[in-house]
Amino acid sequence: MDGNLNEKVVCCFCGESLNIMEAAVIILKPNIDSDELQQLFCHKIHFVERIDKGIVLHPDFYEDSLP
Ligand SMILES: [Zn+2]
Repeated sequence: MDGNLNEKVVCCFCGESLNIMEAAVIILKPNIDSDELQQLFCHKIHFVERIDKGIVLHPDFYEDSLP
């Protein structure tokens, strides 16, 4: 799905809405063999806050998430 500039989505961590262009997109498979995908959206900061600090993320997460 390509983002429509004005589209709103809901953060899967806090439940608040945000602009799709500002959201991180989580593509989720129930298991490795699944052909079905679920797409979730979130504030980047909320993803970074919740993921284990030992997990290295794409640099864009840190650029946009720092206070
Ligand atoms: Zn959030």
